[in-house]
Amino acid sequence: EKILEVNHVKKHFKMGRNQVVKAVDNISFDVYKGETLGLVGESGCGKSTIGRTIIRLYDTTDGEIRFKGESTRNLKGKDLKKFNREMQMIFQDPYASLNPRMTVADIIAEGLDIHGLAQGEERRQKVTELLKTVGLNEEHADRFPHEFSGGQRQRIGIARALAVDPEFIIADEPISALDVSIQAQVVNLMKKLQREKGLTYLFIAHDLSMVKYISDRIGVMYLGNLVELADSQELYDHPLHPYTEALLSAVPIPDPDVEKERERIILKGDVPSPINPPSGCRFRTRCPKVMDICAKETPKWQEVKPMHWVACHLYQEESLKKEEGNKNK
Ligand code: SF4
Ligand code: MG
Repeated sequence: EKILEVNHVKKHFKMGRNQVVKAVDNISFDVYKGETLGLVGESGCGKSTIGRTIIRLYDTTDGEIRFKGESTRNLKGKDLKKFNREMQMIFQDPYASLNPRMTVADIIAEGLDIHGLAQGEERRQKVTELLKTVGLNEEHADRFPHEFSGGQRQRIGIARALAVDPEFIIADEPISALDVSIQAQVVNLMKKLQREKGLTYLFIAHDLSMVKYISDRIGVMYLGNLVELADSQELYDHPLHPYTEALLSAVPIPDPDVEKERERIILKGDVPSPINPPSGCRFRTRCPKVMDICAKETPKWQEVKPMHWVACHLYQEESLKKEEGNKNK
């Protein structure tokens, strides 16, 4: 059952007088109820932008986003309030996303206050319950964010998101700022909460190591485009897009024998600017398998195996025929 549909969404930002940053450029994917969809890519690939566009912190420049079957663009009044409750966000930096002058209780209860869901003793009880749910306790309620460690602060951020009983949580690099030893704890907490509450997650991350552990499916972004999307195991075992192959080759493997055998794919150059992205395939300036057609035509976003999507000319018969034809000329 689809809970979220992202159809041909673009988010462009005007910069200066006549420059446009194409942060997100024609992205389509669905999220199913109760799953975790991981979204990975280097910084600047547009993954945070798509997250913020989905939760309506940004308007779409083009395309459509549907949540539970309804377009989110024109939500108003009661429907908008409901949407603002049902979809919540957890941020990357627990330090910056918690108001330093508010007590933990007031931070967690913010959504309850906004939506008029609980007051007085009931509010207090709800806060205590939420603190326990995320592995903290009642004594923490009247303290301030600076008194907590990074991992604890992220737990507070999670409690704040949970307060209004959301269905869908966008987690924008929720563990990137945490020590490696703490990352697994926060991910395990998120997994437990998902099982208990039937939550759906969009989990944004910049590398593929932790994301596999939490995600049912993974989408890979590059320079404003979604380039591959598949079941997590399938993506790890049979990556199709050359960019995914390169990202995966950088994920450490615990087994030293396998690690030794492996070839790391080092990409040349830097990610080009989203103001003036390369023509055709945006990855072509760094792609080890680039062909002539890659500069001329934008590869289509295609389901090349059941539930395995990729945008690359290597998997499009028509493109390969054209490429062959050009070579023989
Ligand atoms: Fe590489 Fe061409 Fe595929 Fe782009 S379309 S990833 S440049 S082979
Ligand atoms: Mg980001």
